[in-house]
Amino acid sequence: MPQEVLTEAASEMLDWHGSGMSVMEMSHRGKEFISIYEQAEADLRELLAVPGNFKILFMQGGGLAENAIVPLNLSRGGVADFVVTGSWSQKSQQEARKYCTVNIAASSETDGHTTLPDPTTWQLSQGASYVHVCTNETINGVEYHALPDLKALGSDAPLVIDFSSQVASRPVDWSRVGLAFGGAQKNLGPAGLTLVVVREDLLGHALPVCPSAFNYKTVADNQSMYNTPPTYAIYIAGLVFQWLKRQGGIAAMEARNKAKAALLYDAIDNSQLYLNKVAGNCRSRMNVPFFLHDESLNEAFLAGARAHGLLQLKGHKSVGGMRASIYNALPLEGVQALVDYLHEFEKTRS
Ligand SMILES: *Cc1c(COP(=O)(O)O)cnc(C)c1O
Repeated sequence: MPQEVLTEAASEMLDWHGSGMSVMEMSHRGKEFISIYEQAEADLRELLAVPGNFKILFMQGGGLAENAIVPLNLSRGGVADFVVTGSWSQKSQQEARKYCTVNIAASSETDGHTTLPDPTTWQLSQGASYVHVCTNETINGVEYHALPDLKALGSDAPLVIDFSSQVASRPVDWSRVGLAFGGAQKNLGPAGLTLVVVREDLLGHALPVCPSAFNYKTVADNQSMYNTPPTYAIYIAGLVFQWLKRQGGIAAMEARNKAKAALLYDAIDNSQLYLNKVAGNCRSRMNVPFFLHDESLNEAFLAGARAHGLLQLKGHKSVGGMRASIYNALPLEGVQALVDYLHEFEKTRS
């Protein structure tokens, strides 16, 4: 979270703009919260340049719930294509099997998800209801740096992207997307809010078994207020959107994220002690997994990092090693502090 946003939220936590209420105490249908909601939606639409024929939905359930909600709404019980590039897309295809037929169009499992299957090699099905791609695999640290053009690949299906850990870090080419979803907690705000951006023509085809609160058309027709939305999380995300605008918007964030990632990957590549296994053309700008060649040093490395105020560097248990998540809110100085520590730790060990 950007420090500025936390400070602002703290200062108005007890009394929002002289309303005499905390945002947590407001009715979601009252004029105060409606103004917060409308500002947040308008700011997000502007920041991400979301076209007018897409709906922005503020939902609950997180990325994992969307793994069910997407096939419930889009599959029509048919076939959906999945590109398996790491832990998250693996989970997505597994969940979708409850609601539709799954075709694995491509997988990078054999190389331990350190490369990304080139779109020209994907085995797409004829008449698929959608094609699912996780554009940034948070755990494995692989990222598609361009969205596939499904039409050019001979598929008429809409592209569904899980951009949970990529949203707002770079622009989105909406001409290639049918639906994008993401949990807010990586780059947008607190956990509990799930963002869905969906092209209007994809609404209204949910399976009869789809829960009403998870039917995109119902959610869209009710401005995300069919049931009570996660109001406080929407408010905080709204403060993040204002912060993003003050930073210069998404293009400025992308430039900053490129610089941050380059600084860290260069330090890892130029060392004798650290190693990143991901192929150069698909390294994530948000999540940087790395290993110590001598894994017996892992605990000493982490303890030293903690002593420098560098927290949460332990890698995901399924991959091991270390992982630096360098989301939007982390300034370049934060990455520089990590790089300085990498050098310092390496010196003491050689
Ligand atoms: C974190 C994450 C999720 C899971 O989101 P939850 O909100 O925990 O359900 C899904 N996909 C990706 C790519 C993620 O990074």
